[in-house]
Parts: sequence; C-alpha cells; structure tokens
Amino acid sequence: MLEAEKLAEILFNKKKNGWEAVTEGEKEEIYRFSDEYIHYLNRCKTERETVEFSKEILDKNGFTNILDKETLVAGDKIYYINRDKSMYIAVIGKKPLEAGLKIVGAHIDSPRLDLKPNPLYEDTGFAYLKTHYYGGIKKYQWTTIPLAIRGVIVKTNGEIVRVNIGEEKEDPIFTITDLLPHLATDQMEKKLKEGISGEDLNVLIGSIPYSTQEKVGEKIKLNILKLLNEKYGINEKDLISSELELVPAFAAKSLGFDKSMVAGYGQDDRVCGYTCLRAILNIENPEKTAVCVLADKEEVGSMGNTGMESKVFDTFIAEILNKSSQNKTNLLDKVFCNSKMLSADVGVGLDPIYASVSDKNNASLLGNGVSIEKYSGSRGKSGASDANAEYVAYIRKMLEDNNILYQFAELGKVDVGGGGTIAFILANKGIDVIDLGVPVLSMHSPYEVTSKFDIYEAYKTYEVFLK
Ligand code: MN
Ligand code: MN
Repeated sequence: MLEAEKLAEILFNKKKNGWEAVTEGEKEEIYRFSDEYIHYLNRCKTERETVEFSKEILDKNGFTNILDKETLVAGDKIYYINRDKSMYIAVIGKKPLEAGLKIVGAHIDSPRLDLKPNPLYEDTGFAYLKTHYYGGIKKYQWTTIPLAIRGVIVKTNGEIVRVNIGEEKEDPIFTITDLLPHLATDQMEKKLKEGISGEDLNVLIGSIPYSTQEKVGEKIKLNILKLLNEKYGINEKDLISSELELVPAFAAKSLGFDKSMVAGYGQDDRVCGYTCLRAILNIENPEKTAVCVLADKEEVGSMGNTGMESKVFDTFIAEILNKSSQNKTNLLDKVFCNSKMLSADVGVGLDPIYASVSDKNNASLLGNGVSIEKYSGSRGKSGASDANAEYVAYIRKMLEDNNILYQFAELGKVDVGGGGTIAFILANKGIDVIDLGVPVLSMHSPYEVTSKFDIYEAYKTYEVFLK
C-alpha cells in the first residue's frame, strides 16, 4: 500500500456498505430477524395493535404489569400500558435509580387517515367515509391504493368493538378515487400539494341501495349502516366514539432481487419500536435500570395523555421509585438528570433520485448502518435538541467497541429540511439524548423502504445501550 493510501485509511471517516463485511451466517441471521419484523409490520398497523402485540411478547418473556407488583427488586421486568396506545417497559437495575436510567424511546403511531367524527355520507350513488389525515402526508399518495380500516368503536355501555377489515384474503378493501387523466387538465396544472385536497380524501365504501319500495332518503347509506349493525352491532352515532384508522391494505415484503430491503407501511417508527422491544427482551440484571418507551402521537407533536409530553412517563418512573422503596423528595428530577437516552426514530435515507435535497456528506445511506442525528430542528437549528459533544463521544465509543456501523446525518440540506422527534421532550427533563435509528426512503408514504442490514444494526445498538 502506498503511504498516502495508508494514511487515508487511518485518517478518513469513510462510509462503508455494511453488506460487504457480512458473513453468510450473519446474513442468514439478519434475514431471519427481518422476516419476524415483516410479520410484526403486517400485524401492527395501529398504535393499539402495536401495544397489544408488544404486551403478548413481553408476557411470554417474563415481564409483568407494574400494577400487579407490590414491590420491585433488581432484575424485575415490568411494563405499564397507557390507555392501550402507548407503553413503557423496564428491567430494574442493580444500581439505585438515582444513578440514572438507560432509555430507548420509539414511537408507534404512523401517518394515516383517521375518520371524521361524522364520517358517513351518501352522494350520487355511492356511500363514503370522510377522513382527516393524521401526520405529515403527501395526499396524492393515498388515493387509488387499497385501504384497510383498523381500530375500535366504543359504545356508550363501554363495550369495545374491534374492527380490522381489508387485510384477509376474503376481505373487501376500500379506496379513494382520483380523476382520470383525460379530465384532469385543471388538476394537473395545480401545485402537487394542492392536487388533492384534504376535504376530498373520502373513502368509497359501497353502492347498493337498501332494497325497499318505501320512500326513504339515503338508501345506500342505510344499507351500509344495516351491514355495520349486523356485523358490529353499531349505529351511526357509535362512529362518534371510535378510533378507526385507514391504513394501506398491502403487506410488507422483502424488496429487491437480493431481498436486501423491507418495503412496508408504518416503518416510521415501528422499525425502532420493534428493534427496541426485541432488544429489551435480552436484558438480564443490568447495572442501570433499562427502559424502553413506545410512545403515541409523535407524528402530531407528542401532545395529549398518550404522547411523550404527558406526565404519565414521569409517573411510571416515580412508581418504580416508590415500589422499590427508593423515593425521596425531588429524586425523580435527579434520576432524569443522570439518565441517558437514545431517541429511537427513523432518519432520512439518501435517495439518489432526489439527491439534491441532501448534503451528501451529511446524509445517511441505506445499508451503511444506523443513522444518528446530533441535532434536529430546522433553519438555524430552530427548536433543536442538540446532544453535547461528550455524549456523542460516549455513543461513538459504544458503537465502535461493539463493531456497529453508524453514520451521522442531518435531515436534508440546511435551508431545505428539518423536523423533530421526541428527543427534545426528554432532553428538557435533563436527560442526555441523541436521535439514533434506521434510515428510510419514501418516509411517511404508504410504502416506506429500509435496509435489513440497518434494521439489525439498530437492534444490536439498542441491546448494547440498554446492557
Ligand atoms: Mn418518526
Ligand atoms: Mn414521522
């Protein structure tokens, strides 16, 4: 090797394609892990379904609901479920909580279409459901694709009716129609974001009138309500107290001839939700208490009692302090100030077709390992949670000691991109936080793309961090 080549080898920070160094055995393990992840993506398309699935896995692996525990000791494995939509999981450490927690926090809500409170109507031979989109979507992507309806309807007597239709082979699907090109001259002249309006995201759900000679209005709507009444025992009013989500009805799959990637809905952020869940299953008797957060409402600003801004997380940690007889005045604040966290959220993968929005030197490539953002925010780091250099060095050392491939990136070019995660909310409590997750293509679309290599690296990262 030439001298300059040797020097470059030592001194440069070069990107590496992770697949190049993977052995056949490792590749098999990565593919097996991804198959389980794909199964999870298909089963969990709403936050409630994700909580339910995660609880099942935790129950099978020796975790207990904290409400069923009187006292807690080192090694105990517990979880708390917040209104069936978010969840906190912990393995109690040998050191007192005052020494700080190790937290990995992901979110399990994803962009989608929610139903309006009064969704059902009939118009010129069709019945529809009106929607209000949830999170940042490109509306045109949600027309002319098969949609499933998943969620719950809660009756005034407290009965919860579960709905999941559009996924099974014999199930019908639903869709939002779009204009034919022949008549779309005006629509095509519009800006992309105005081509489809939010008020036009109405889902087609039926077309047969209720069979009667009587003169009643809205016979198609009536027929739909009759079917819903037969199947779910509900009436139109019951739709008011529902949380029904329209999600893509196609399955997550391996992508590419080499099957190196995963394409599927809801990978922001269930890819981190799954990998951190799997990671905490491996934690036995950690030094510091290991915590895994599966948050709701991140896509709409983390507000509300199931979002990360709520006090419920603090209450969960306070409950651990109480039940392990460690609590004293103001101790919770100190616990947070001594804690470290990975905000486990997806990063932007560099898309060569749209490379111009990224700074190539500060972008994550799929297959090059976990994507880390020292800070988020936009245009002058506005609203950023900026991890300090000492913490970044600590994270780098952990990754390098464990041979985990990583890349530091920003969310697009300086004056172009920006965005937030739950990082700042925890950082505001005094915790050292950095965003670390899996890079994604087509983020927030009905079919997001990740690399199986990066998914496995994220799993490894969360495990070594919590250990
Ligand atoms: Mn996210
Ligand atoms: Mn997102």
